[in-house]
Amino acid sequence: MKKLLPTSIAGSLPKPSWLAEPETLWSPWKLEGEALEEGKKDALRVTLQEQTISGIDIVCDGEQTRQHFVTTFIEHLDGVDFENRKTVRIRNRYDASVPVVTQAVTRPKSVFVEDAKFLRSQTDQPIKWALPGPMTMVDTLYDDHYKSREKLAWEFAKILNQEAKELEAAGVDIIQFDEPSFNVFFDEVNEWGIAALERAIEGLKCETAVHICYGYGIKANTDWKKTLGSEWRQYEESFPKLAKSSIDMVSLECHNSHVPIELISLLKGKKVMVGAIDVATDSIETPEEVAATLREALKYVDADKLYPCTNCGMAPLSRSVARGKLEALSAGAEIVRQELTLKRSA
Ligand SMILES: [Zn+2]
Repeated sequence: MKKLLPTSIAGSLPKPSWLAEPETLWSPWKLEGEALEEGKKDALRVTLQEQTISGIDIVCDGEQTRQHFVTTFIEHLDGVDFENRKTVRIRNRYDASVPVVTQAVTRPKSVFVEDAKFLRSQTDQPIKWALPGPMTMVDTLYDDHYKSREKLAWEFAKILNQEAKELEAAGVDIIQFDEPSFNVFFDEVNEWGIAALERAIEGLKCETAVHICYGYGIKANTDWKKTLGSEWRQYEESFPKLAKSSIDMVSLECHNSHVPIELISLLKGKKVMVGAIDVATDSIETPEEVAATLREALKYVDADKLYPCTNCGMAPLSRSVARGKLEALSAGAEIVRQELTLKRSA
């Protein structure tokens, strides 16, 4: 029988201090050349072991081979100039100096497929692989070529689809697209965001997921969250549309956030990865706190569709905190799993 409440993480885990500066985003590599390639593989092995020892059921690479969840993918594409950068506003929140699209974007070769094959060779557990979503990719660039966010998103969706098909062939069980932009640009989500996402998953037989969150626990995000009021209803805009889409799973933020949990019911029919771990604090949840979040979620989603998860990536946390949170997630899920099994046999 399939295990109830399979656990997983949204994406990233902290990197070892010998590979990159800990507790920072965009941290430069500490190794070079051959040593860097070896170091990334070693870090991937360690991150996998930390997940399996902590009892995580669906494992991932912890993004050990990437500097950033969007930029690293774009760096592998042609048509984007990383040297002559321009300043834009990211997700209407903060200014950043970003690369410029100067020509048609193309993917000369696969980006993460070798890493995925390596992860596949290291474990028999189901594996999940995260890719940036088309809208979030568009939002981290200055476009001097297509001059249309929609057109650029469509080109990215086609490229992501090529990559996703190769990841599927490499044995990835779940391909996840990270779309934090879906919580910001509601009109665009409606007009072309979901369509671009569906173009990215076209023809895939493996499971597909979209992760929509309120971001890492960095200052720009926590400041933005303070402006959102006591109830965060952003998901109310995108969930009904996602419910009608062909995406299989939706990953959302829950624990310690001001998202009204009943919004989950807008995802009827979908599998739901419920964030039961706050990534914006160093305090480690107790298993009972995790269990409480999951019990609340179970009021709105069937048990066989509930996937306990983290709110977002844990890259900016310390390794010991991240490890504690992994263990809390497993232990909390186990409490609820046992309650469900008792109920079923009663
Ligand atoms: Zn996230």
